[in-house]
Amino acid sequence: MLVLSACACAAFAAETFSPATLARARAARDAGLRDDVGYDVLRALCTEVGPRPAGSAGDRRAVAWALATLERLGFANVRAESVTVPHWERGECRVEITAPWPQPMVAVALGGSVATPASGVEAEVVAAQSLDDLKSLGEARVRGKIVFFRGRMERVRTGAGYGVAVAVRGRGAAEAAKLGAVGVVIRSVGTDSNREPHAGAMRYDSTGTRIAALALSAPDADLLDRQLASGRPVRMRMSNTSRSLPEERSANVIGEIPGRGPAPGIVVAGGHLDSWDLAQGAHDDGAGVATMIAAAKLAAAQGALRHTIRVVLFANEEFGLSGGRGYAERHAAEMDRHVAAMESDLGAFDVWGLATGFGPGREALVEPILSVLAPICTEYVGNGTRGGADTGPLSSRGVPAFELSTDARPYFDLHHSANDTFDKVDPALLRENIAGYAALLVLAASGDVDFGRLPGGAPRGR
Ligand code: ZN
Ligand code: ZN
Repeated sequence: MLVLSACACAAFAAETFSPATLARARAARDAGLRDDVGYDVLRALCTEVGPRPAGSAGDRRAVAWALATLERLGFANVRAESVTVPHWERGECRVEITAPWPQPMVAVALGGSVATPASGVEAEVVAAQSLDDLKSLGEARVRGKIVFFRGRMERVRTGAGYGVAVAVRGRGAAEAAKLGAVGVVIRSVGTDSNREPHAGAMRYDSTGTRIAALALSAPDADLLDRQLASGRPVRMRMSNTSRSLPEERSANVIGEIPGRGPAPGIVVAGGHLDSWDLAQGAHDDGAGVATMIAAAKLAAAQGALRHTIRVVLFANEEFGLSGGRGYAERHAAEMDRHVAAMESDLGAFDVWGLATGFGPGREALVEPILSVLAPICTEYVGNGTRGGADTGPLSSRGVPAFELSTDARPYFDLHHSANDTFDKVDPALLRENIAGYAALLVLAASGDVDFGRLPGGAPRGR
């Protein structure tokens, strides 16, 4: 049931896009560069809903807002597909250096962290650059200490630094606890130098001691590094009251532009509706939500398309990918009807490239797609994408993928921090994203060509 080669469009597929389809894609692109719908949608989400972490009251407001928004904008088959999500609440956290030079620090609990004992934890700090470095320190140097993961995320356009830095966020506490640590602090996974820490998910092993895991702002991590560099023992006190609550119901919110062709396939246009709790989730991933809603409208406005464009606003990407997994399971029986999937989840920043995940032998499709995108971006990243965090499970079941590469440098300055707010969105850059995806949706939903099927593989998270 994994990879079905008999894609819905194969019988009709041509070698390349028709001139009429290319003209429509260019028209959708140009309309996108003048679009106001996306910015209005994003303003409403940030203003009327705000923070919407999985299982929270904000999450429920976001689902209601999304259903009303898709209805208002004229989408068909608007519905909420129920998903079970974890529910974690932040509480309060305090961190201070107690020796050799006492100073308060700014930190936030990582998503999923347990509380400390009510009296807090005070211990000497031992620094590690990475998970491997922690292991090389060994139990003798870690037992009874607070581990400080000091590694810095590299600030590069591709966002490649994230995958490296995020390993300690996810696994640091579990690995440190195995060696007897009593708490973990990490340098925030982010690339700014202001005093806002960055949240994000962590996870424990199913067995073993659970210790609190906090993220320091970059300047506070610098401070800790400087005190450690003195060679004197550095002691820290941390307290945290976050807690896990019973699971809640949330939903993937869906709206469609029905295809008009014979046996229409499905093109998924995805973003995730949830955010972390510290901010409005303007770029992560309000921008993706607004981009796909606006792009789908613009693609439809250029005339009937053969395939259905299905906008999917995924539940709980941030804390366990509940929505992406739930969608792939619920729609497993119609996976062969999914002709392509795309997801926007790297912020509304400058679009610089196209990545594809097409089946074998589709190289000739890249050049005409790039020709349409030329006013927006000119680089071809390659055929290596396997979808976003939420659409990855589709690609691992064979569904071809498209992705626009955006400048990840400003994104990771804001990502998961209290600074991810609406004022940080440049309407012109949001329009660039909308224009690019509107063009891609026309091309993908035209039914002119068959993008093939991907060989099976593991989904890739972001
Ligand atoms: Zn995201
Ligand atoms: Zn995120």
